[in-house]
Amino acid sequence: MKLDKTMLWATFALKCPRCRQGYLFKNRNPYALKELSSMNKTCSNCKMLLDPEPSFYYGSMYVSYGLTVGFSILTFLIWYFFFDVDVMYYLIFNAIFLLALVPYTFQLARAVWITILVKYNPASIEPNPLKKKD
Ligand SMILES: [Zn+2]
Repeated sequence: MKLDKTMLWATFALKCPRCRQGYLFKNRNPYALKELSSMNKTCSNCKMLLDPEPSFYYGSMYVSYGLTVGFSILTFLIWYFFFDVDVMYYLIFNAIFLLALVPYTFQLARAVWITILVKYNPASIEPNPLKKKD
């Protein structure tokens, strides 16, 4: 399997979970802050609706919290095992690190949320990925 077709790669690259080719956000740079939350209406490749229902991305707040805690635990473990420095320096470093990651974490949380709810199916042409089959 090619790397660019894996779910993990597509999620971190902020791509459509159904085809793993189209981009979720209008601007590919998360640090273009004016367009931070500007998402494409549909995937440019498979035409899937990227905002299939009102308030669809509310759940991504929980994902964002989990990502932030995960990043903090990871940096704490690196700090604990590789540096012999006071924990106060870790807390300052971690606060700066998390602030610097806010734009990417925001977009990654949305990408993780839609990836949880939409299965990989590049052959599908159904615009709404949450539509129930009759
Ligand atoms: Zn797509």
